[in-house]
Amino acid sequence: MKVLKFGGTSVGSPERMKRLLDIIDPAERQIVVLSAVSGTTNSLAEIGQAYLAGDKNKAAALIGALKVKYESFIGELFGKEEYLDQGREVIDYHFLLLNSLSNDLFTTIEEKLVLAQGELISTTLYYVYLKEIGVPSVLLPALDFMKIDEDNEPMVDYITEHLTPLLDKHPENKLFITQGYICRNSFGEIDNLRRGGSDYTASLIGAGINSEEVQIWTDIDGMHNNDPRIVKGTQPIAQLSFDEAAELAYFGAKILHPQSVFPAQKYKIPVRLLNTMDPHAPGTLITDTSEKDRIKSIAAKDGITAIKIQSSRMLLAHGFLRRVFEVFERYRTSIDMITTSEVAVSLTIDDTTYIEEIIAELLGFGSVDIDKNQTIICVVGDFGAEKHGYAARVLEAVKHIPLRMISYGGSDHNMSLLIKTKDKTEILRSLHNRLF
Ligand code: ADP
Ligand code: ASP
Ligand code: MG
Repeated sequence: MKVLKFGGTSVGSPERMKRLLDIIDPAERQIVVLSAVSGTTNSLAEIGQAYLAGDKNKAAALIGALKVKYESFIGELFGKEEYLDQGREVIDYHFLLLNSLSNDLFTTIEEKLVLAQGELISTTLYYVYLKEIGVPSVLLPALDFMKIDEDNEPMVDYITEHLTPLLDKHPENKLFITQGYICRNSFGEIDNLRRGGSDYTASLIGAGINSEEVQIWTDIDGMHNNDPRIVKGTQPIAQLSFDEAAELAYFGAKILHPQSVFPAQKYKIPVRLLNTMDPHAPGTLITDTSEKDRIKSIAAKDGITAIKIQSSRMLLAHGFLRRVFEVFERYRTSIDMITTSEVAVSLTIDDTTYIEEIIAELLGFGSVDIDKNQTIICVVGDFGAEKHGYAARVLEAVKHIPLRMISYGGSDHNMSLLIKTKDKTEILRSLHNRLF
Protein backbone atom coordinates (compact mmCIF):
# COMPACT_ATOMS: atom_id res chain seq x y z
CA MET A 1 0.00 0.00 0.00
CA LYS A 2 1.25 3.50 -0.78
CA VAL A 3 0.82 6.53 1.45
CA LEU A 4 0.19 9.86 -0.32
CA LYS A 5 0.35 13.12 1.61
CA PHE A 6 -1.02 16.36 0.19
CA GLY A 7 0.08 19.61 1.81
CA GLY A 8 -1.83 22.82 2.46
CA THR A 9 -1.48 24.34 -1.00
CA SER A 10 -2.39 21.02 -2.62
CA VAL A 11 -5.81 21.23 -0.90
CA GLY A 12 -5.75 25.04 -0.78
CA SER A 13 -8.80 25.70 -2.96
CA PRO A 14 -11.90 23.78 -4.05
CA GLU A 15 -10.35 23.55 -7.52
CA ARG A 16 -7.15 22.02 -6.10
CA MET A 17 -9.11 19.57 -3.97
CA LYS A 18 -11.03 18.41 -6.99
CA ARG A 19 -7.82 18.01 -9.01
CA LEU A 20 -6.37 15.55 -6.44
CA LEU A 21 -8.05 12.82 -8.43
CA ASP A 22 -5.66 13.60 -11.31
CA ILE A 23 -3.03 12.12 -8.99
CA ILE A 24 -4.88 9.68 -6.74
CA ASP A 25 -5.84 6.45 -8.52
CA PRO A 26 -9.05 5.37 -6.75
CA ALA A 27 -8.53 1.82 -8.00
CA GLU A 28 -5.34 1.39 -5.98
CA ARG A 29 -5.49 0.57 -2.25
CA GLN A 30 -3.80 3.51 -0.53
CA ILE A 31 -3.87 5.93 2.39
CA VAL A 32 -4.22 9.63 1.61
CA VAL A 33 -3.04 12.02 4.33
CA LEU A 34 -4.33 15.59 4.06
CA SER A 35 -3.07 18.79 5.66
CA ALA A 36 -5.34 21.66 6.56
CA VAL A 37 -6.28 24.05 3.75
CA SER A 38 -3.34 26.48 3.41
CA GLY A 39 -3.49 29.38 5.85
CA THR A 40 -5.94 27.61 8.17
CA THR A 41 -3.44 26.40 10.77
CA ASN A 42 -1.96 29.91 10.93
CA SER A 43 -5.46 31.33 11.54
CA LEU A 44 -6.17 28.68 14.16
CA ALA A 45 -2.88 29.50 15.88
CA GLU A 46 -3.95 33.16 16.04
CA ILE A 47 -7.34 32.15 17.43
CA GLY A 48 -5.61 30.05 20.08
CA GLN A 49 -3.31 32.96 20.98
CA ALA A 50 -6.27 35.34 21.28
CA TYR A 51 -8.10 32.92 23.60
CA LEU A 52 -4.96 32.32 25.66
CA ALA A 53 -4.57 36.10 26.04
CA GLY A 54 -8.18 36.28 27.24
CA ASP A 55 -9.20 38.37 24.21
CA LYS A 56 -12.50 36.68 23.39
CA ASN A 57 -13.62 39.44 21.02
CA LYS A 58 -10.53 39.03 18.90
CA ALA A 59 -10.97 35.24 18.90
CA ALA A 60 -14.61 35.62 17.82
CA ALA A 61 -13.64 38.00 14.99
CA LEU A 62 -10.93 35.64 13.74
CA ILE A 63 -13.26 32.64 13.92
CA GLY A 64 -15.94 34.59 12.02
CA ALA A 65 -13.50 35.57 9.26
CA LEU A 66 -12.26 31.98 8.87
CA LYS A 67 -15.81 30.67 8.72
CA VAL A 68 -16.66 33.06 5.89
CA LYS A 69 -13.75 31.59 3.90
CA TYR A 70 -15.03 28.05 4.40
CA GLU A 71 -18.58 29.01 3.48
CA SER A 72 -17.33 30.19 0.13
CA PHE A 73 -15.03 27.11 -0.13
CA ILE A 74 -17.91 24.64 0.19
CA GLY A 75 -20.03 26.74 -2.18
CA GLU A 76 -17.49 25.97 -4.89
CA LEU A 77 -16.59 22.44 -3.81
CA PHE A 78 -20.04 20.89 -3.92
CA GLY A 79 -22.38 20.79 -6.88
CA LYS A 80 -25.52 19.23 -5.42
CA GLU A 81 -27.65 20.77 -2.68
CA GLU A 82 -27.61 17.53 -0.65
CA TYR A 83 -23.81 17.55 -0.42
CA LEU A 84 -23.61 21.30 0.09
CA ASP A 85 -25.86 20.73 3.12
CA GLN A 86 -23.50 18.06 4.41
CA GLY A 87 -20.58 20.44 3.86
CA ARG A 88 -22.47 23.12 5.82
CA GLU A 89 -23.00 20.69 8.69
CA VAL A 90 -19.26 19.97 8.78
CA ILE A 91 -18.40 23.66 8.88
CA ASP A 92 -21.10 24.48 11.45
CA TYR A 93 -19.94 21.67 13.74
CA HIS A 94 -16.30 22.73 13.79
CA PHE A 95 -16.98 26.47 14.07
CA LEU A 96 -19.52 25.95 16.81
CA LEU A 97 -16.83 24.07 18.71
CA LEU A 98 -14.31 26.90 18.15
CA ASN A 99 -16.83 29.49 19.39
CA SER A 100 -17.90 27.38 22.37
CA LEU A 101 -14.37 27.52 23.77
CA SER A 102 -15.06 31.09 24.92
CA ASN A 103 -17.27 29.71 27.69
CA ASP A 104 -14.65 27.86 29.71
CA LEU A 105 -11.12 28.03 30.96
CA PHE A 106 -8.74 28.10 27.98
CA THR A 107 -5.39 26.38 28.45
CA THR A 108 -2.78 24.91 26.12
CA ILE A 109 -4.95 21.76 26.03
CA GLU A 110 -7.78 23.70 24.37
CA GLU A 111 -5.23 25.44 22.18
CA LYS A 112 -4.25 22.08 20.69
CA LEU A 113 -7.90 21.26 20.16
CA VAL A 114 -8.19 24.50 18.17
CA LEU A 115 -5.10 23.69 16.10
CA ALA A 116 -6.52 20.25 15.22
CA GLN A 117 -9.64 21.63 13.51
CA GLY A 118 -7.92 22.41 10.18
CA GLU A 119 -7.08 18.81 9.30
CA LEU A 120 -10.41 17.56 10.67
CA ILE A 121 -12.24 20.00 8.37
CA SER A 122 -10.18 19.38 5.21
CA THR A 123 -10.42 15.58 5.42
CA THR A 124 -14.15 15.56 6.16
CA LEU A 125 -14.91 17.96 3.32
CA TYR A 126 -12.83 15.86 0.94
CA TYR A 127 -14.56 12.70 2.10
CA VAL A 128 -17.99 14.28 1.44
CA TYR A 129 -16.77 15.51 -1.96
CA LEU A 130 -15.68 11.96 -2.91
CA LYS A 131 -19.12 10.77 -1.88
CA GLU A 132 -20.74 13.38 -4.10
CA ILE A 133 -18.79 12.25 -7.16
CA GLY A 134 -19.33 8.57 -6.35
CA VAL A 135 -15.78 7.57 -5.38
CA PRO A 136 -15.95 5.20 -2.40
CA SER A 137 -13.58 6.02 0.47
CA VAL A 138 -13.20 5.48 4.20
CA LEU A 139 -12.36 8.35 6.58
CA LEU A 140 -9.88 7.12 9.20
CA PRO A 141 -9.70 9.21 12.38
CA ALA A 142 -5.98 9.84 12.98
CA LEU A 143 -6.77 10.36 16.67
CA ASP A 144 -7.59 6.63 16.86
CA PHE A 145 -4.10 5.47 15.85
CA MET A 146 -1.56 8.33 15.88
CA LYS A 147 0.03 8.67 19.31
CA ILE A 148 3.05 10.28 20.95
CA ASP A 149 4.59 9.17 24.25
CA GLU A 150 5.54 11.27 27.31
CA ASP A 151 8.69 12.48 25.49
CA ASN A 152 6.55 13.57 22.52
CA GLU A 153 8.02 10.72 20.49
CA PRO A 154 5.64 8.99 18.06
CA MET A 155 4.89 5.34 18.80
CA VAL A 156 5.19 3.32 15.58
CA ASP A 157 4.15 0.03 17.21
CA TYR A 158 1.01 1.69 18.54
CA ILE A 159 0.24 2.96 15.04
CA THR A 160 0.65 -0.53 13.57
CA GLU A 161 -1.49 -2.08 16.30
CA HIS A 162 -4.33 0.43 15.96
CA LEU A 163 -4.27 1.25 12.25
CA THR A 164 -4.06 -2.32 10.88
CA PRO A 165 -7.44 -3.42 12.31
CA LEU A 166 -9.05 -0.22 10.96
CA LEU A 167 -7.77 -1.10 7.48
CA ASP A 168 -8.70 -4.77 7.87
CA LYS A 169 -12.28 -3.75 8.65
CA HIS A 170 -12.61 -2.56 5.04
CA PRO A 171 -10.97 -5.25 2.89
CA GLU A 172 -12.86 -4.16 -0.23
CA ASN A 173 -12.19 -0.46 0.13
CA LYS A 174 -9.36 1.13 -1.86
CA LEU A 175 -9.11 4.73 -0.76
CA PHE A 176 -8.54 5.70 2.89
CA ILE A 177 -8.43 9.37 3.92
CA THR A 178 -6.88 10.57 7.17
CA GLN A 179 -5.64 13.71 8.92
CA GLY A 180 -2.03 14.74 8.96
CA TYR A 181 -0.46 16.60 11.91
CA ILE A 182 -2.87 15.59 14.68
CA CYS A 183 -2.36 12.89 17.29
CA ARG A 184 -3.03 11.99 20.90
CA ASN A 185 -0.45 12.44 23.63
CA SER A 186 0.32 10.17 26.57
CA PHE A 187 -2.59 11.70 28.55
CA GLY A 188 -4.97 10.86 25.71
CA GLU A 189 -5.42 14.55 24.91
CA ILE A 190 -5.50 15.91 21.36
CA ASP A 191 -2.02 17.02 20.40
CA ASN A 192 0.01 17.53 17.24
CA LEU A 193 3.32 16.66 15.59
CA ARG A 194 4.40 20.35 15.41
CA ARG A 195 4.03 22.68 12.47
CA GLY A 196 4.47 20.98 9.12
CA GLY A 197 3.71 17.68 10.88
CA SER A 198 1.59 16.12 8.12
CA ASP A 199 4.80 14.94 6.45
CA TYR A 200 5.66 13.20 9.70
CA THR A 201 2.19 11.60 9.83
CA ALA A 202 2.72 10.20 6.33
CA SER A 203 6.11 8.67 7.09
CA LEU A 204 4.89 7.31 10.44
CA ILE A 205 1.94 5.64 8.73
CA GLY A 206 4.32 4.37 6.05
CA ALA A 207 6.49 2.84 8.78
CA GLY A 208 3.49 1.55 10.75
CA ILE A 209 1.99 -0.37 7.82
CA ASN A 210 5.31 -1.14 6.11
CA SER A 211 4.17 0.79 3.05
CA GLU A 212 5.84 0.29 -0.34
CA GLU A 213 6.35 4.04 -0.75
CA VAL A 214 5.49 7.37 0.85
CA GLN A 215 4.73 10.25 -1.52
CA ILE A 216 4.84 13.82 -0.24
CA TRP A 217 2.88 15.94 -2.71
CA THR A 218 3.59 19.65 -2.34
CA ASP A 219 3.83 22.90 -4.29
CA ILE A 220 7.37 22.47 -5.63
CA ASP A 221 9.07 19.83 -7.78
CA GLY A 222 11.14 18.17 -5.04
CA MET A 223 13.97 19.10 -2.71
CA HIS A 224 15.93 21.95 -4.29
CA ASN A 225 19.65 22.52 -3.95
CA ASN A 226 19.08 25.72 -1.95
CA ASP A 227 16.20 27.60 -0.34
CA PRO A 228 14.00 28.71 -3.27
CA ARG A 229 12.42 31.39 -1.09
CA ILE A 230 15.77 33.17 -0.82
CA VAL A 231 17.94 32.16 -3.76
CA LYS A 232 17.02 32.45 -7.45
CA GLY A 233 17.72 29.61 -9.90
CA THR A 234 17.62 26.70 -7.44
CA GLN A 235 17.26 23.24 -8.99
CA PRO A 236 15.47 20.07 -7.86
CA ILE A 237 17.65 17.15 -6.74
CA ALA A 238 16.71 13.81 -8.32
CA GLN A 239 18.01 11.55 -5.56
CA LEU A 240 18.99 11.86 -1.91
CA SER A 241 19.92 9.38 0.79
CA PHE A 242 17.86 9.27 3.97
CA ASP A 243 20.81 10.77 5.85
CA GLU A 244 21.14 13.67 3.43
CA ALA A 245 17.40 14.36 3.38
CA ALA A 246 17.26 14.18 7.19
CA GLU A 247 20.08 16.74 7.52
CA LEU A 248 18.39 19.11 5.09
CA ALA A 249 14.99 18.76 6.75
CA TYR A 250 16.43 19.20 10.22
CA PHE A 251 18.52 22.19 9.18
CA GLY A 252 15.73 24.19 7.61
CA ALA A 253 14.56 22.84 4.22
CA LYS A 254 10.89 23.56 4.86
CA ILE A 255 9.66 21.10 2.25
CA LEU A 256 10.03 18.34 4.86
CA HIS A 257 9.17 18.32 8.56
CA PRO A 258 12.45 18.06 10.52
CA GLN A 259 11.77 14.58 11.91
CA SER A 260 9.83 13.14 9.00
CA VAL A 261 12.68 11.21 7.40
CA PHE A 262 13.54 9.06 10.45
CA PRO A 263 10.62 6.59 10.41
CA ALA A 264 11.03 6.03 6.66
CA GLN A 265 14.74 5.50 7.13
CA LYS A 266 14.33 3.08 10.01
CA TYR A 267 11.74 1.00 8.17
CA LYS A 268 13.45 1.42 4.76
CA ILE A 269 10.45 3.00 3.02
CA PRO A 270 11.31 5.06 -0.08
CA VAL A 271 10.01 8.64 0.07
CA ARG A 272 9.20 10.67 -3.03
CA LEU A 273 8.77 14.44 -3.00
CA LEU A 274 6.41 15.38 -5.82
CA ASN A 275 4.73 18.47 -7.21
CA THR A 276 0.92 18.62 -7.21
CA MET A 277 1.06 21.50 -9.71
CA ASP A 278 3.25 19.45 -12.10
CA PRO A 279 2.51 15.78 -11.38
CA HIS A 280 4.77 14.45 -14.13
CA ALA A 281 7.91 16.20 -12.89
CA PRO A 282 10.32 13.54 -11.54
CA GLY A 283 10.68 15.13 -8.07
CA THR A 284 13.11 13.78 -5.48
CA LEU A 285 13.50 10.14 -4.51
CA ILE A 286 14.84 9.50 -1.01
CA THR A 287 16.24 6.00 -0.37
CA ASP A 288 19.22 4.47 1.41
CA THR A 289 21.56 5.02 -1.53
CA SER A 290 23.50 8.16 -2.19
CA GLU A 291 25.02 9.69 -5.31
CA LYS A 292 28.69 9.80 -4.41
CA ASP A 293 31.16 12.61 -4.33
CA ARG A 294 28.97 15.67 -4.72
CA ILE A 295 27.78 18.71 -2.86
CA LYS A 296 24.02 18.41 -3.20
CA SER A 297 22.18 21.09 -1.29
CA ILE A 298 22.32 23.95 1.17
CA ALA A 299 19.82 24.73 3.92
CA ALA A 300 19.57 27.29 6.70
CA LYS A 301 18.07 27.10 10.18
CA ASP A 302 17.31 30.34 12.02
CA GLY A 303 16.55 31.00 15.66
CA ILE A 304 19.80 29.53 16.92
CA THR A 305 21.55 30.57 20.14
CA ALA A 306 25.27 29.90 20.59
CA ILE A 307 26.68 29.26 24.06
CA LYS A 308 30.40 29.36 24.81
CA ILE A 309 31.68 27.92 28.07
CA GLN A 310 35.24 28.86 28.84
CA SER A 311 37.05 27.11 31.64
CA SER A 312 40.68 26.56 32.54
CA ARG A 313 39.50 23.38 34.22
CA MET A 314 38.75 21.90 30.80
CA LEU A 315 42.46 21.65 30.21
CA LEU A 316 43.13 17.90 30.15
CA ALA A 317 40.07 17.21 32.27
CA HIS A 318 38.18 14.05 31.40
CA GLY A 319 34.50 14.13 32.14
CA PHE A 320 34.18 17.87 31.54
CA LEU A 321 32.06 17.57 28.39
CA ARG A 322 29.87 14.96 30.04
CA ARG A 323 29.06 17.37 32.87
CA VAL A 324 28.33 20.15 30.39
CA PHE A 325 26.02 17.91 28.35
CA GLU A 326 24.24 16.68 31.47
CA VAL A 327 23.09 20.24 32.15
CA PHE A 328 21.35 20.30 28.76
CA GLU A 329 19.92 16.85 29.30
CA ARG A 330 18.41 17.88 32.65
CA TYR A 331 16.55 20.67 30.85
CA ARG A 332 15.60 18.47 27.89
CA THR A 333 17.32 20.86 25.52
CA SER A 334 18.95 19.34 22.49
CA ILE A 335 22.25 20.56 21.09
CA ASP A 336 22.62 21.02 17.32
CA MET A 337 26.23 21.92 16.75
CA ILE A 338 29.37 21.71 18.84
CA THR A 339 33.00 22.80 18.50
CA THR A 340 35.72 22.48 21.12
CA SER A 341 39.10 23.94 21.90
CA GLU A 342 41.42 23.17 24.76
CA VAL A 343 39.94 25.81 27.05
CA ALA A 344 36.43 26.31 25.71
CA VAL A 345 33.46 24.61 24.16
CA SER A 346 30.85 26.28 21.95
CA LEU A 347 27.52 24.72 21.23
CA THR A 348 24.18 25.75 19.79
CA ILE A 349 20.56 25.24 20.82
CA ASP A 350 17.29 26.32 19.22
CA ASP A 351 14.98 25.82 22.18
CA THR A 352 15.70 28.58 24.71
CA THR A 353 12.87 27.76 27.14
CA TYR A 354 15.32 26.94 29.94
CA ILE A 355 18.22 29.14 28.90
CA GLU A 356 18.32 31.06 32.21
CA GLU A 357 18.49 27.85 34.24
CA ILE A 358 21.08 26.35 31.88
CA ILE A 359 23.31 29.43 32.10
CA ALA A 360 23.05 29.46 35.89
CA GLU A 361 24.34 25.89 36.04
CA LEU A 362 27.03 26.37 33.39
CA LEU A 363 28.45 29.32 35.36
CA GLY A 364 29.58 26.65 37.82
CA PHE A 365 32.15 25.53 35.21
CA GLY A 366 33.55 28.87 34.07
CA SER A 367 32.55 31.95 32.09
CA VAL A 368 29.57 31.74 29.75
CA ASP A 369 28.95 33.86 26.61
CA ILE A 370 25.68 33.87 24.71
CA ASP A 371 25.14 34.89 21.06
CA LYS A 372 21.53 35.14 19.94
CA ASN A 373 20.09 35.57 16.41
CA GLN A 374 22.39 33.02 14.85
CA THR A 375 21.74 30.81 11.83
CA ILE A 376 23.15 27.39 11.00
CA ILE A 377 24.09 26.99 7.34
CA CYS A 378 24.20 23.34 6.44
CA VAL A 379 25.94 22.11 3.30
CA VAL A 380 24.92 18.55 2.46
CA GLY A 381 26.44 16.05 0.09
CA ASP A 382 28.66 13.03 -0.07
CA PHE A 383 32.14 14.05 1.02
CA GLY A 384 33.65 11.39 3.23
CA ALA A 385 36.92 11.64 5.11
CA GLU A 386 38.98 10.31 2.21
CA LYS A 387 37.74 13.09 -0.10
CA HIS A 388 39.47 16.43 -0.30
CA GLY A 389 38.65 19.96 -1.35
CA TYR A 390 35.03 20.23 -0.19
CA ALA A 391 35.66 22.25 2.97
CA ALA A 392 38.02 24.51 1.05
CA ARG A 393 35.37 25.20 -1.62
CA VAL A 394 32.78 26.04 1.02
CA LEU A 395 35.11 28.29 3.00
CA GLU A 396 36.34 30.04 -0.14
CA ALA A 397 32.72 30.88 -1.01
CA VAL A 398 32.08 32.46 2.40
CA LYS A 399 35.41 34.13 3.09
CA HIS A 400 33.82 37.60 3.21
CA ILE A 401 31.40 36.62 6.01
CA PRO A 402 32.27 36.30 9.73
CA LEU A 403 31.90 32.70 10.95
CA ARG A 404 31.06 31.96 14.58
CA MET A 405 31.51 28.16 14.39
CA ILE A 406 32.47 25.53 11.79
CA SER A 407 31.61 21.85 12.03
CA TYR A 408 32.96 19.26 9.57
CA GLY A 409 33.49 15.53 9.85
CA GLY A 410 30.58 14.80 12.21
CA SER A 411 29.25 12.67 9.37
CA ASP A 412 30.23 12.03 5.75
CA HIS A 413 27.56 14.30 4.38
CA ASN A 414 27.40 17.52 6.35
CA MET A 415 29.40 20.66 6.86
CA SER A 416 27.79 23.31 9.06
CA LEU A 417 28.62 26.94 9.62
CA LEU A 418 27.21 29.19 12.31
CA ILE A 419 26.71 32.81 11.24
CA LYS A 420 24.73 35.88 12.24
CA THR A 421 21.20 35.67 10.84
CA LYS A 422 21.63 39.04 9.14
CA ASP A 423 24.29 37.43 6.88
CA LYS A 424 22.08 34.50 5.85
CA THR A 425 20.83 35.76 2.49
CA GLU A 426 24.31 36.77 1.38
CA ILE A 427 25.89 33.48 2.43
CA LEU A 428 23.20 31.33 0.78
CA ARG A 429 23.58 33.25 -2.49
CA SER A 430 27.33 33.21 -2.39
CA LEU A 431 27.47 29.46 -1.69
CA HIS A 432 24.97 28.84 -4.47
CA ASN A 433 26.95 30.82 -7.03
CA ARG A 434 30.22 29.12 -6.20
CA LEU A 435 29.18 25.55 -5.43
CA PHE A 436 26.69 24.82 -8.21
P1 ADP B 1 3.17 21.79 2.20
O1 ADP B 1 2.11 22.74 2.59
O2 ADP B 1 2.87 21.03 0.95
O3 ADP B 1 3.60 20.91 3.33
P2 ADP B 1 5.48 23.47 2.66
O4 ADP B 1 5.23 24.93 2.51
O5 ADP B 1 5.54 22.93 4.03
O6 ADP B 1 4.42 22.70 1.76
O7 ADP B 1 6.84 23.06 1.92
C1 ADP B 1 7.06 23.42 0.57
C2 ADP B 1 7.86 24.71 0.50
O8 ADP B 1 9.14 24.52 1.08
C3 ADP B 1 8.16 25.18 -0.90
O9 ADP B 1 7.12 25.95 -1.43
C4 ADP B 1 9.45 25.99 -0.70
O10 ADP B 1 9.21 27.36 -0.67
C5 ADP B 1 9.95 25.59 0.68
N1 ADP B 1 11.35 25.14 0.68
C6 ADP B 1 12.31 25.57 1.53
N2 ADP B 1 13.48 24.99 1.27
C7 ADP B 1 13.28 24.16 0.23
C8 ADP B 1 14.12 23.28 -0.52
N3 ADP B 1 15.41 23.13 -0.23
N4 ADP B 1 13.57 22.60 -1.54
C9 ADP B 1 12.28 22.73 -1.85
N5 ADP B 1 11.43 23.54 -1.19
C10 ADP B 1 11.92 24.25 -0.15
N1 ASP C 1 -1.50 22.10 8.97
C1 ASP C 1 -0.27 21.92 9.72
C2 ASP C 1 0.62 23.16 9.57
O1 ASP C 1 0.26 24.07 8.85
C3 ASP C 1 0.46 20.67 9.37
C4 ASP C 1 0.98 20.60 7.95
O2 ASP C 1 0.52 21.33 7.08
O3 ASP C 1 1.85 19.76 7.70
O4 ASP C 1 1.62 23.23 10.20
MG1 MG D 1 4.81 21.26 4.97
